[in-house]
Amino acid sequence: MGRAFVYVILGGGVASGYAALEFTKRGVSHGELCIISEETVAPYERPALSKGYLLPEAPARLPAFHTCVGANQERLTPKWYKEHGIELVLGTRVISADVRRRTLLTAAGETISYKILIVATGARALKLEEFGVNGSDAENVCYLRNLTDANRLVDAMNSCSRGNAVIIGGGYIGMECAASLVINKINVTMVFPEAQCMPRLFTPKIASFYEDYYKAKGVEFVKGTVLTSFDMDSNGKVVAVNLRDGKRLPADMVVVGIGIRPNTSLFEGQLTMEKGGIKVNGKMQSSNSSVYAVGDVAAFPVKLFSETRRLEHVDSARKSARHAVSAIMDPEKTGDFDVVPFFYSRVFTLSWQFYGDNVGEAVHFGDFSGNTFGAYWVNKGHLVGSFLEGGTKEEYEAIAMITSLKPAIEDLTKLESQGLSYAMAV
Ligand code: FAD
Repeated sequence: MGRAFVYVILGGGVASGYAALEFTKRGVSHGELCIISEETVAPYERPALSKGYLLPEAPARLPAFHTCVGANQERLTPKWYKEHGIELVLGTRVISADVRRRTLLTAAGETISYKILIVATGARALKLEEFGVNGSDAENVCYLRNLTDANRLVDAMNSCSRGNAVIIGGGYIGMECAASLVINKINVTMVFPEAQCMPRLFTPKIASFYEDYYKAKGVEFVKGTVLTSFDMDSNGKVVAVNLRDGKRLPADMVVVGIGIRPNTSLFEGQLTMEKGGIKVNGKMQSSNSSVYAVGDVAAFPVKLFSETRRLEHVDSARKSARHAVSAIMDPEKTGDFDVVPFFYSRVFTLSWQFYGDNVGEAVHFGDFSGNTFGAYWVNKGHLVGSFLEGGTKEEYEAIAMITSLKPAIEDLTKLESQGLSYAMAV
């Protein structure tokens, strides 16, 4: 049993949706393109799952946030794929790949062959079991990577009104979920081993602003320790979490956000890997010329840093997907992928954007007791990263632009006093 396509996109997430739109813009013919996804719904804007999806009132639900609404483009519903002759093979897990034969084998036993494959398998949430803690299967322990997880989280929230939630992890999933749980009138305690929230991105000064803001909303922080075990009731529901520092926190629900791992396993030993992802060149092409990789799973050369990186952000998923399709359909006119890494988050009424790299010395600016503040990062005499909370559209555009220019910075004190006006002047 088998089907053959010219182009196959493996994975039905953000990158997949943006690649599909780009294929149609570049004139793919009916029947040439197939998308295979383990998820049962057409590609959607994944960031909505920790934001609008968790709101107590008028929550976002599909079809409202199918790709590519996040970039203010056409919204691709299942009908759209049908009308464009794109085969959506949903609810189907690919269990093995043979890049020499150019075939994929699905869990249902079907072989799907391709001329060109785009790997857009994204990443999976790391499980507690990988850190030696059991209990992930309990019905009130939630992760958040896909729609199934989000529905489970919503169910857990609904059965825990005014109860206690413990969030394990202080990264963006933990921070965004904490805000959503508070809005749903649930008491939240966040537990993480580091000294501050968002340790991979925030400086201590920035982290302290958000922690104070969260505390004012009732969130408690337990830092510098980790979860060691759960206490369960006779139905297998978690009733408390035990921490290494000896604390025991009563819990009606638990949300775990402890990082992700790219879904590369189908291609281990077949494609070159780097930084935990599939290594690609500036055309998003892997070590096998028929296979491209995009989104969270791809490790690509970031021109701005002259370094191969893997980015776990929606903007790079969208742009790398479009770039790969452009390189496939119009190789002569497609240069090397050039993107300024960009990451954003929205919690409560706060909203921040970050561009570039957070290495070197951080120079803070603005009013940390008010609404608009930020930081630049200066490395080896050049501005390489910018963060801004509470900016306007023009201000965000300005920090994006200044970061892409990587200007030389001679005087950090001057940069600090100029603050946002330094970026706005360019
Ligand atoms: P994904 O969107 O994860 O899609 C991967 C797809 O591949 C899935 O459909 C999966 O089921 C499928 N798949 C995997 N393996 C197989 C297989 N073997 N067979 C079939 N199908 C398979 N980024 C930001 O910049 N800002 C944010 O605010 C933000 N918020 C986020 C909130 C949440 C809750 C999450 C989970 C992520 C968030 N991100 C955010 C990150 C962003 O969503 C990802 O960077 C983006 O989704 C990556 O796109 P992708 O297509 O590479 O992977």
